[in-house]
Amino acid sequence: QHNLFSALRAAFPADLASTAVETTAPDGKPLFYTWADLDRASARMANLLTSLKLPEGSRVAVQVEKSVEAMVLYLATLRAGYVFLPLNTAYQSAEIEYFIGNAEPAVVVCTPGNFGWVSKIAFTLGTQHVFTLGDDRSGSLLERAAHHGDSHTPVPRKADDLAAILYTSGTTGRSKGAMLTHGNLLSNAQVLKDYWGWKKGDVLIHALPIFHVHGLFVAIHGALINGSKMIWMAKFDPKAVLAAMPRATVFMGVPTLYVRLLAEPGLNKEATKDMRLFIAGSAPLLIETFTEWQQRTGHTILERYGMSETIMLTSNPYAADARHNGQSERRGATVGFPLPGVGLRVVDDANRPLPVGEIGNIQVQGPNVFKGYWRMPEKTAEEFTKDGWFKTGDVGKVDERDYVSIVGRSKDLIISGGYNVYPAEIEGYINEMPGVAESALVGVPHPDFGEVGVAVVIAKPGAQLNPEAIVAGLKSQLANFKIPKKCFVVPELPRNTMGKVQKNLLREQHKGLFA
Ligand code: ATP
Ligand code: MG
Repeated sequence: QHNLFSALRAAFPADLASTAVETTAPDGKPLFYTWADLDRASARMANLLTSLKLPEGSRVAVQVEKSVEAMVLYLATLRAGYVFLPLNTAYQSAEIEYFIGNAEPAVVVCTPGNFGWVSKIAFTLGTQHVFTLGDDRSGSLLERAAHHGDSHTPVPRKADDLAAILYTSGTTGRSKGAMLTHGNLLSNAQVLKDYWGWKKGDVLIHALPIFHVHGLFVAIHGALINGSKMIWMAKFDPKAVLAAMPRATVFMGVPTLYVRLLAEPGLNKEATKDMRLFIAGSAPLLIETFTEWQQRTGHTILERYGMSETIMLTSNPYAADARHNGQSERRGATVGFPLPGVGLRVVDDANRPLPVGEIGNIQVQGPNVFKGYWRMPEKTAEEFTKDGWFKTGDVGKVDERDYVSIVGRSKDLIISGGYNVYPAEIEGYINEMPGVAESALVGVPHPDFGEVGVAVVIAKPGAQLNPEAIVAGLKSQLANFKIPKKCFVVPELPRNTMGKVQKNLLREQHKGLFA
């Protein structure tokens, strides 16, 4: 039996009456869910799904606000042996139409408020069942589930059976549906449990969205497979996270969450003294954030790297890693070592492995690597090498101590006059200039050079920046082909919900500069 739900259920603590999740209802009342509550509620929903007699492999597409019931729906879908397909709550009709048309789910679950337009799209595209679920326990899903029994035997699944389709964040283009199996998800959860030293009594602050690999898999599986309580927050609120820390031990966040926590005067050693581990990922963590966090709290953020297609790939060590000379240092601006079982190599454009320290394409292998892109066999074939390595699309290097660092994405690489320009290198120099908060370098078409770099820079609060001075400052340090041909100082960078900078939007905006 390889059903992921069974493995998670087996890790529930013996005392099922203890608290599994504590949260706050939309009306402000505290809410507590025991392990037995999670078990029974997911059984009821699984029985409801089973009663629909859906075809094998049916997708259950879900676009709802974050709530404990939304997590229960995920567990119920696994339990009933169907395929969970979460959708970003920000998506509107054009996007929902694309995803439902592409995934052809048998069941769609949306918020009561969106039922009108979502059900219209879904029924038109052939979905048989549309349920609603509100963040206040309202809606037809729970009403219908209440008529079903609260015990349910997980449907047997093979390790290779689909558990979820996770659409990528769409940072570099249209989102692709990554097909993840029960085996992919379980193997990664088990590896992380050991690698991050999860232990009895750990309590996770869960403040991430649950339509993405970070909040749905890394965070939820991490807590459940350790039988750990979660303090569940529907939205990230830095003050609420700070207030929860004395009762918690683990926090996971995207870099912007750390930046927002640092803006809280109350963030200090005292406030974080009961915490065991701070984990960051989904986008690069600036070295400034890493260092400031260390100074303010005494904790060293553990940065890790992964993606929808592979779940987690690398991590800085939590404790001494015997595979890497017992090194235990969490190093800023790196994403640490390949996780146990993950193969990682850096290659040139002809897939030839590069020497230590050289920048190239990152390729990976392992039990965590997905089955392929949903209904995109050609794209899938393109993204795997003949010998079975998955091309992550990320560019990086491995240093002599085995630490991996990400330099950027291959799609963001700028080729100017035949020379490779790695945006992260130039961004690093710009970020070190006085008054600069952060920056993004993108390539735009140029008649002579093919492409040239354009820098978009954000000032620190209160700082005045001069774009010409930034360019002049770079000229004294870097080769001419790396120098941005134009620099803009703007109030903020375009980001998606996971805090990722959307360079495609910047490229689009500036593409006519030299054309
Ligand atoms: P799309 O594939 O649709 O363009 P996406 O790649 O942003 O979107 P995700 O799967 O959510 O979608 O994100 C994975 C990517 O996030 C990785 O390929 C990598 O570029 C980036 N990433 C994740 N963790 C880190 C990290 N610690 N440092 C730098 N980049 C990271
Ligand atoms: Mg991607």
